[in-house]
Amino acid sequence: MSHQLEELRKQLDEINLQLLRIINERASVVKKIGEIKKRYSVQKFDPIRERDMLERIVQHNEGPFDDNTVRHLFKQIFKASLSLLEDDHKKVLLVSRKRQSKDTVVMVGDVPVGGEQNVLVAGPCSVESEEQVRQVAQTMSKLGFRLIRGGAYKPRTSPYDFQGLGEEGLKILRRVADEFGLKVVSEIVHPADIKMATQYVDVIQIGARNMQNFELLKVAGSARIPVLLKRGLSATLEEFLFAAEYIVSRGNTQVILCERGIRTFEKWTRNTLDISAVPILKQESHLPVLVDISHSTGRRDILLPIAKAALAAGANGIMVETHPEPSVALSDAQQQIDLKQLEALLTQLRQTHDLV
Ligand code: PEP
Ligand code: MN
Repeated sequence: MSHQLEELRKQLDEINLQLLRIINERASVVKKIGEIKKRYSVQKFDPIRERDMLERIVQHNEGPFDDNTVRHLFKQIFKASLSLLEDDHKKVLLVSRKRQSKDTVVMVGDVPVGGEQNVLVAGPCSVESEEQVRQVAQTMSKLGFRLIRGGAYKPRTSPYDFQGLGEEGLKILRRVADEFGLKVVSEIVHPADIKMATQYVDVIQIGARNMQNFELLKVAGSARIPVLLKRGLSATLEEFLFAAEYIVSRGNTQVILCERGIRTFEKWTRNTLDISAVPILKQESHLPVLVDISHSTGRRDILLPIAKAALAAGANGIMVETHPEPSVALSDAQQQIDLKQLEALLTQLRQTHDLV
């Protein structure tokens, strides 16, 4: 019996090699077809042709495999052949480390994000008045920080809540930032506003609620200004990177990722900071990664350990919301810190981390 088994195994080994030769031969033909299709700009995937091929194969099927199994096996071969024809960027994303091993450093004017030094992005949740923004800017510049944030278009859960000052808010940010030599980060929610916004802001923020607003991503991708893209409330890291790919694939390589917490069952924080996202994003992508310690936690009392955790995990910086008088803030009053608390937080953080 063992002799017979040995013999059959030899036969199998031989058939495997024949199959290997024949599927590679098939692949070579597929590649030639692909080249012709490319020359004539014809779609590579032709579902009707694929269905006809499968039907023809099944008609010749004499078993022992049943027709469905044969279909399944051949579909796998078809799929593998088609992926041979795909351009590299469809298989490996532009935002992937596999495409670019070196870190992308996004230059916000003269401020590098993603380089040696960690950055701080701070400012009010919403721009409420010039005086409010000026107080924040003054403190930031005194402390040596360069990136100010503030929302002029606020994607609020309730339509009755403060919606932001719109273009007037962007103008305030620009004026005050110029006064103190700061750079402006501000959220834009409508694709049609991006062009206008580039007059006033240095970084366009795309918020969590708009992470998969593909039309917004496309327009941001056509702009030539850095984009800070926040992770969606329930977005996987894969979806997050695909969203970034929308921007980069349109030619705007200046994208900063921002982990801002995701929805979970936990109620003692506003969102759950997915700290593991930081090293995974750094590993998978060459883009800079920031952590928003305000929206991820929704509370003020744990900002220092959370900021430390973010930087220890490899984040390139943090974002924090601050307001001269948080209790009267028009949005996110419960999570913003006042300017004294900001100073205390940053003084403590700077004892262990270099932050600009
Ligand atoms: C914000 O940063 O102003 C904001 C609205 O955050 P998120 O999009 O992360 O909720
Ligand atoms: Mn906010």
